[in-house]
Amino acid sequence: MNSIKFKLAAIGLIPIVLFVFLIMFYLIPVIKNSIYQEKKIQTREMTNTALGVLDHYHQLEQKGDLTRQKAQDRALQIIKSMTFGNERQDYFWINDTEPLMIMHPFRPDLEGRNLAGIQDPEGIYIFREFVAKVQDKGSGYVSYHWQYYDDPERIEPKLSYVAEFEPWQWIVGTGVYVNDVNETAAQIRGSALLWTLLFVMIILPVVFIFILSILRPLLKAVFFADMVSAGNLDERLEIKSNDEIKFLSDSLNKMVTKLRDMVRKEQAISAKAREQTKKAEQAARVAESARRQTEAARVKTHQALQALQESDEKLNTLFESMTEMVVLHELIFDQKGNAVDYRIIDCNKAFTQISGLNKEDIIGKPATLVYQSDDPPYLKKYSGVALSGEPHHFEDYYAPMDKYFSISVVSPGTNRFATIATDITATKKMQQMIAAKNKELEQVVYIASHDLRSPLVNIDGYSRELKYSLKDLAMILDQEHTAMEELRAALKTPMEDMADALHYIRSSSTQMDALLKGLLKLSRTGRANLSIEALDMNKILAEVIEAMEFQIKESGAEVHVDYLPPCRGDQIQVNQIFSNLVGNALKFLDSSRKGLIRISGQIKDGRCVYCVKDNGIGIDPAHQKNIFEVFHRLDPSKHEGEGLGLTIVRQVLERLGGDIRVKSEPGLGSSFFVTLPTVYDK
Ligand code: ADP
Repeated sequence: MNSIKFKLAAIGLIPIVLFVFLIMFYLIPVIKNSIYQEKKIQTREMTNTALGVLDHYHQLEQKGDLTRQKAQDRALQIIKSMTFGNERQDYFWINDTEPLMIMHPFRPDLEGRNLAGIQDPEGIYIFREFVAKVQDKGSGYVSYHWQYYDDPERIEPKLSYVAEFEPWQWIVGTGVYVNDVNETAAQIRGSALLWTLLFVMIILPVVFIFILSILRPLLKAVFFADMVSAGNLDERLEIKSNDEIKFLSDSLNKMVTKLRDMVRKEQAISAKAREQTKKAEQAARVAESARRQTEAARVKTHQALQALQESDEKLNTLFESMTEMVVLHELIFDQKGNAVDYRIIDCNKAFTQISGLNKEDIIGKPATLVYQSDDPPYLKKYSGVALSGEPHHFEDYYAPMDKYFSISVVSPGTNRFATIATDITATKKMQQMIAAKNKELEQVVYIASHDLRSPLVNIDGYSRELKYSLKDLAMILDQEHTAMEELRAALKTPMEDMADALHYIRSSSTQMDALLKGLLKLSRTGRANLSIEALDMNKILAEVIEAMEFQIKESGAEVHVDYLPPCRGDQIQVNQIFSNLVGNALKFLDSSRKGLIRISGQIKDGRCVYCVKDNGIGIDPAHQKNIFEVFHRLDPSKHEGEGLGLTIVRQVLERLGGDIRVKSEPGLGSSFFVTLPTVYDK
């Protein structure tokens, strides 16, 4: 049913069918109704005409021109002859209100008869209905069944219009047979159908020809398209017309031409594609082997990366756990390209701990800001390394941190450098101490050799003297002496010389012994075991004073000890320190005045500072710094001593982490200040 020929046939037939339906079910009923209405109006108009005739004769009766009887007869005569309609079959009848039939052209048998009992097949009392209608409204339509015109056998439905002529009490009526209307309508329908048939008969061949003219080329086009779809692209569609189908065939031909070109191209392309597919397959095989190689490489890379990561982690752990301060920097250049500063890129924990700087505060910041200085520290050295890539190493004292550093500078990349700094302050201090010790030792050796040399020279000189004296003695003894007296006299001088020489030799050896003992003492104090603890200095000084009671009394000096704060140290050594100092204070008092010795103490700058003050002879400023040197004595002739006391004191204090200094004015007295750690120091 979807076939195009059915669609085209439908286009031709549907209007015809619609047209027939329109006539049959709309136009014919409308016409029928209009005829019916027309007839109804006609019956009314005709009845009115009949009434007009009656009225005319009534007026003649009124005027006296005619008697009622005559007037009525004439009127009846005229109305009876007033037939109308197609075959002049339509008529009027007149009955009165009795109802008696007065005149009926086709039923003269009824004239003069009472009509009240006449019923139609439906049971309607026809004439009673007429009377009732006129009595009710004066006129009106009544439907009923009645014989068809003059044929008493044929009873048909009828619609009549009845009106009363009051002066004579007559009812005039005329009607229309409903069948007449239906017949007229049937006639119209018949002729309409006839005309429609005629029209269809004419139009159908036209439609058929028209359909064929469309279908034929279309079928040809379909056949052509089938051929094309079967792969035959060499044919052409030939259609001889000038309409859209011709355009369609032209388009199809164009399409096929293009399709043919395309197919050829496509064939060429697919040939090429096949070739390329082959190549691609080859390439795929190569790619697969490459992929395998890549996979193997990837595995290796992954392993290498893992190893790298592990080594990176190790490196990072090393970086963070290093005790050396490691800092990575990058140079900052000015517009001329000169390195003017450097910024910190990374640093390890040791750096933040030793420098006291916060990592977040310094990363990315320039050195001038981090170290708060106008000139970035060691910029020249650092930029030299970063620009040349040549590593560099140096040691320096960095004043802002009061520390010595050993710094290695390396460049891990362009314009970058890393510093690996080791805090060598302790080593440096140790070195300084060793240097000082060496110096001191040199001094000790020098002084010891010098001091030991003079008694040795003495011994050497006097032993030579002794030798000469012995020679003299031998010579004297070789000579002939007559008397003992003479011998004695001759021996006297050499004997005296010998005694002198022996005396000096002896005293020199005693001196040497003392010096050697002193050196031994010095070396022992330097090696003595220390027991560091909190010391009650008041107790220690009380013991010192008590031990010196005899000397104090002998000197007649007054010794005063203030309250002394406790400190940390070795009890024996600290006792030794203060024994020496108090001993010296007593030894170097001025004999011209009463000796006053005061021992005081305080805590200053977190250190215990004790002072042993006397009003003795004082020390010349030129000698003040030498008094701590080994065997240094200002006036050996006046005072006993080895010149070792203060040397030992300083040595002990160094070991205890303390210090000693002197403040003195010749003729006024001396103050020795001893510094020791407090009990809170560790
Ligand atoms: P010694 O007392 O055995 O000579 P020291 O090393 O104790 O050796 O003293 C070195 C020198 O320092 C002394 O010879 C003395 O000249 C000087 N000296 C030390 N203490 C005092 C003091 N309280 N007053 C004056 N001079 C002093």
